[in-house]
Amino acid sequence: MKILVINCGSSSLKYQLIDMSTESSLSTGLVERIGIEGSKLTQKVEGREKYVLTTPMKDHKDAIAHVIETLMDDVQGVIRSSDEIEAVGHRVVHGGEKYSTSVIITDEVMKDLEEFSVLAPLHNPPNIIGINACMELMPGTKMVAVFDTAFHQTMPEKAFLYGLPYELYKENHIRKYGFHGTSHKYVSFRAAEILEKDIKDLKLITCHLGNGASVTAVNGGISLDTSMGFTPLEGLIMGTRCGDIDPAIIPYLMEVKGYSYDEVNNIMNKKSGVLGLSGVSSDFRDIEDAAAEGNERAKLALDVFHYRVKKYIGDYMAVLNGVDAIIFTAGLGENAVETREEIVKDLEWFGIELDTERNKVRGQERIISKEGSKVKIIVIPTNEELMIARDTMTLVK
Ligand code: ADP
Repeated sequence: MKILVINCGSSSLKYQLIDMSTESSLSTGLVERIGIEGSKLTQKVEGREKYVLTTPMKDHKDAIAHVIETLMDDVQGVIRSSDEIEAVGHRVVHGGEKYSTSVIITDEVMKDLEEFSVLAPLHNPPNIIGINACMELMPGTKMVAVFDTAFHQTMPEKAFLYGLPYELYKENHIRKYGFHGTSHKYVSFRAAEILEKDIKDLKLITCHLGNGASVTAVNGGISLDTSMGFTPLEGLIMGTRCGDIDPAIIPYLMEVKGYSYDEVNNIMNKKSGVLGLSGVSSDFRDIEDAAAEGNERAKLALDVFHYRVKKYIGDYMAVLNGVDAIIFTAGLGENAVETREEIVKDLEWFGIELDTERNKVRGQERIISKEGSKVKIIVIPTNEELMIARDTMTLVK
């Protein structure tokens, strides 16, 4: 059984074709600049040279048509006919409060996704466009939606409610939703396999540290709390997002600096985080380089980032009443040796002891805590596409 996984952004689209008999990736690809001059499709197939197709792609339907053609191409392809694609799994950012698991896409689901677009105006609309395009191009193929928010729907009210008037929750759906759920779920279940334990017996803190970053408290395979909120802006300091701030700063900026709603939003989402603090870059590699060369603001940005992650780990140890393992994943969590070291530094009192030699690992699964450390620390590369494909297969079978 082959499953196509699609992750549609506003002008880009990532895809992966997965053979579920071996859970191996047959091809991965990226389409960029959809509807903009210079549209480009890049596909990677193991053992082959990277393939690049530069051709105008006026919209997502056009882009997906090129993806399917490329997958079936005599030379670059990996399948003979699109009939070999059993189902398509779509990453959808927001599933509101209605979807706590993945679902087969029906007209009713599409209507709901439209409704949730107010909650994720940047993400759900391109997701919907991608689904519609696939449905038109592959009318007989089942489509599944896998939501970023679904895994966190298990959070109790005390964790997801804000201290705002209750009517704002009931009438306007203002509450914590959390994101990166597919990744937090994948690494949690993988940690149980690595530790050879039943997931039901494990208390985990999963740190998804990429450009966007979040931490989740997972008890027995269930999300109890997570750092992102109503939107992905809450929680950790990120590449360009500010994370938790005093909400009073927003009206203050509007009043004192005369910023408009759009300007404040833009500052908090695009100009803050380690970019805003360091003044160097949103990419942690650039900031680490600058810090190594003595740039004080770059050092400060990293310090603030590490401190915030550590604080959330502390929070979640309290939420969980202990922790069996701390998991690091995503670009930074998987690769940034020093970042991991700084985050778990001085937590020995809690039984968290890093083995600095074992920690010298990038992009590979490894237990990096000391032998005998009460709390295990594990690096687990995330695999959201595989998780989406698994859910898709389960539903269409
Ligand atoms: P997203 O999917 O949210 O865009 P990723 O999970 O790809 O983000 O993570 C991107 C971040 O990971 C970047 O800030 C990048 O600097 C960081 N990163 C990737 N590789 C390394 C590395 N070897 N060392 C330090 N940071 C890294």
